[in-house]
Amino acid sequence: MGSNVGDRVGICCAAIERLRCHLDVADVRVSPFFETEPYGVTDQPPFINLTVEMATTQSPHTLLKTLKNMENDLGRVYRYRWGPREIDLDILLYDDRVISSDTLKVPHPEMHKRAFVLVPACEICPEWEHPVLKKTLSQLLSGLSREGVSRYEGTVPCV
Ligand code: ADP
Ligand code: MG
Repeated sequence: MGSNVGDRVGICCAAIERLRCHLDVADVRVSPFFETEPYGVTDQPPFINLTVEMATTQSPHTLLKTLKNMENDLGRVYRYRWGPREIDLDILLYDDRVISSDTLKVPHPEMHKRAFVLVPACEICPEWEHPVLKKTLSQLLSGLSREGVSRYEGTVPCV
């Protein structure tokens, strides 16, 4: 998940709370919070990024709808592609599934290139194997620079 508008940490905590309480999920594991320089469109404020690992009975497409509804409930406003957002909830991996539909691509097609995804993910599941690239998240991260990704030093009220 990521946020770079408003009370970034508070919004991420609200999202985690919703994942924990309002979804049929179990075993929610949350990474530390990281503060990251924007990637792609760089003229925008820094992000809070973190990753969550959880079990759910929802199918991937149902989960995507749930996450999109959650983004709306948490006040996400659409601005422009890759622009600032109150909250972004993406599915990175789902078991060892490979999905390529119009609305959902899993593994997330950019995840292996992004230190702001892999640094937090490696804090909770470094041995998860990317089902297409056949490398662990830790192996994928070892090829990337961690520049611009640092531990968030402020207070995190929810983990
Ligand atoms: P971003 O690509 O920056 O996350 P959005 O959150 O606005 O942008 O998502 C745009 C669209 O990406 C969503 O409406 C969704 O259909 C699609 N999408 C494809 N694969 C995924 C995924 N793995 N997780 C989340 N959204 C995805
Ligand atoms: Mg998204």
